[in-house]
Amino acid sequence: MHFCKSKKHVWRHKIDAEKCCNGYRRIFVIGNNVPEDATNIKIDKQTGLKSGRIWIKVEKEEEFGAITPII
Ligand SMILES: [Zn+2]
Repeated sequence: MHFCKSKKHVWRHKIDAEKCCNGYRRIFVIGNNVPEDATNIKIDKQTGLKSGRIWIKVEKEEEFGAITPII
C-alpha cells in the first residue's frame, strides 16, 4: 500500500499514489479511451466493453491546490 502526497488516500500501485493529490485528477473512461497501461481495467462480460479510471493532468491550479490571496 502506498500513501499519496497529501497522506489522505492509499493506493495499491505506487504509480497511482505518486499522482494522487499531486496535480492529477482521476477520471472514468470506457472503450478505446482506456489506455493499455491503465492499472485497473474492467471488462464487461456481456458486451466486452473495457472501462477503467485514469489520471489526467489538471491544468487549472485551483483544482489541486488552494491559493491564499495576499491582501
Ligand atoms: Zn490523494
